[in-house]
Amino acid sequence: MAEPHAHLDKALTAEKVPNPRGDLLGAIDAWMTAASAGLFTPEDTADRATDALELLLANGATAVRTHVNIGAGAEALQAVREARSRMDGLLDVQIVALTSNPITGPEGRENRRALAVALEVGVDLIGGCPHLDPDGTMLMSDAFAAASDAGIGLDLHVDEVLDPQVLYLRELSRMVSDSGFAHPVTASHCVTLGLQSPDVQAAVSREVADAGVSVVALPQTNLFLQGRNHPTATPRGLTAIDALSQAGALVCGGADNVQDPFNLVGRSDPLETAALLVMAGHRLPDEAFRMVGADARTCLGLPSAEPVVGAVADFVAIDAPSVRGAIADAPMARKVFHRGKLVATTSQSRTIYR
Ligand SMILES: [Zn+2]
Repeated sequence: MAEPHAHLDKALTAEKVPNPRGDLLGAIDAWMTAASAGLFTPEDTADRATDALELLLANGATAVRTHVNIGAGAEALQAVREARSRMDGLLDVQIVALTSNPITGPEGRENRRALAVALEVGVDLIGGCPHLDPDGTMLMSDAFAAASDAGIGLDLHVDEVLDPQVLYLRELSRMVSDSGFAHPVTASHCVTLGLQSPDVQAAVSREVADAGVSVVALPQTNLFLQGRNHPTATPRGLTAIDALSQAGALVCGGADNVQDPFNLVGRSDPLETAALLVMAGHRLPDEAFRMVGADARTCLGLPSAEPVVGAVADFVAIDAPSVRGAIADAPMARKVFHRGKLVATTSQSRTIYR
């Protein structure tokens, strides 16, 4: 299994950083206030990121892509790089520079400088949130230019709102197709695609598939953060997984935030994401498992780890009667292998006293 969308710099801070509003802007405000009050030291961030990686690994994720906030300086990035080096040889970790907003216009100067610093320190992809910027189109075209110069890919938080007028996903796909951008592009969230009519979903999904843009569905935070102002028939906030799949686009599943102001719960277990894809995303268990396994690895640009000769020997052994049973029970007892080597074992015992 793989985790295609984490936020290791924020992980495991739910106690320290409350988000009483419970929505996305409440979480961002809570995080920014805590960060500017100096609540997170580089040591603390490196330790939490390491803890989160250990949890993911023990649960069977041998590849992780994490976004890291770079707006307040490179300390969080350095800390996550430190966590990655502590886990060297145990799992693969990709780091996305998550820029702060605004990054366009005169007020974005500091945030543009922060991206330049992050690129010097070293990141694997460039991120950002077009729907949170005064000029989302310029944010995306600047991100393409910066990624092109750096020779790396893009992974943007796209349309993480419930306003159907916002649909940067289509523009992003056209930019990829028109520019012939040479590196992988991932669109995370894509909430508003789920709000469109079936015709628009199908048309945009075809453009996404033709452009080769991968989509990451993130049921945990979408269910937690979205829809709080809709007391009746509360929307789930998930992207249009059916339309994207039917169009042939790659759609995988991730957990996003874990026990922080963006998501108070979460077990760092891809099987938890798979269960939500079954319940809230209406996938069958085998497909949900593929979305947190083979498809997540493809999104990360990693070679196949299927149980076939010649594939990478990354796998998790779970004592369960079927894939469905593994997702349903999510047993703690697991053995995790990375490149043919046992890298984590968790055991579990149960006693009923009659
Ligand atoms: Zn995210």
